[in-house]
Amino acid sequence: MLQQTRIEAVRLAYARILEVCPCVEDLAALSEDALLKLWQGLGYYSRARNLHSAAKAIVAQGHFPASGDEWRKLPGIGDYTAGAIASIVLNEPRPAVDGNVLRVLSRVFARNFDRPGATALLAPWMTAENARSFTQSWMELGEVICLPHGQPRCAECPLQGECQAHKTSRELEFPAVAKKSPRPVSEMTVFRILSSAGLIALRKRPSSGLLAKMWEFPNADNKLSGKAARMLLGSWGLEVKSLRTLPPSVHLFTHREWHMTNYEARVTAPVGDFTWVTPQELVQHYAIPSAFKALSPNE
Ligand code: SF4
Repeated sequence: MLQQTRIEAVRLAYARILEVCPCVEDLAALSEDALLKLWQGLGYYSRARNLHSAAKAIVAQGHFPASGDEWRKLPGIGDYTAGAIASIVLNEPRPAVDGNVLRVLSRVFARNFDRPGATALLAPWMTAENARSFTQSWMELGEVICLPHGQPRCAECPLQGECQAHKTSRELEFPAVAKKSPRPVSEMTVFRILSSAGLIALRKRPSSGLLAKMWEFPNADNKLSGKAARMLLGSWGLEVKSLRTLPPSVHLFTHREWHMTNYEARVTAPVGDFTWVTPQELVQHYAIPSAFKALSPNE
């Protein structure tokens, strides 16, 4: 859950999921839609699917993995997570290198590291006695003391005597940040479609790609004028009674931006290739990605 996401953002969803799924068998037995609903708001929904698949694999094999190598084979478990679980839970000497650890190391040695380089450096310092506290110490140092964005608290740091960046007053030069290229922009038109009886049209996204298999409000590529929007709705089999322009919205993904032109369409009948739901059902049972937040009925 914490991949790419701050602890504060995760806290509520974590409690929500634990309440419904206090053990791995409950998680494995949950429907995917129910888990995605519990996950709503956290984004990166592939993590939820991987968590679900991993829970099923654990239940199928009848026990939790007993080593970092076994954990690494489960869906969604990469080198960092395998290292974190193996060292903290099993006290196995296996480094867990994330962005925090890379930042601290790069400052202490006044040079940049990649993950394999940092892993190779840390591995010989870990033993079956210290692995648990070793991993947590590095995590905590990056989380609490050696903060990013020009805020390292060097006066409180236990490594200030060794830290090459601190000794030469170059803390902020490390880690060197690669210049990011601009995110590609996709223009889209998105519809909140309401039937006369107040039902809302939803559909599922394709099974691969961005937000795979998530529920969404019907949409199309490109920025459509009102006239083009009405034609598109007609091609979906809908008889449009009225079309209202909603405020446009922008959603930033890690590697892409969506610029959305939004409409509310009122139609005569709930027909076409959609799932029609009441506003209550939408809120209670359907996880809509936050990219479509501007279209939700209570916005
Ligand atoms: Fe980070 Fe400062 Fe500690 Fe160096 S001395 S590791 S820059 S907090």
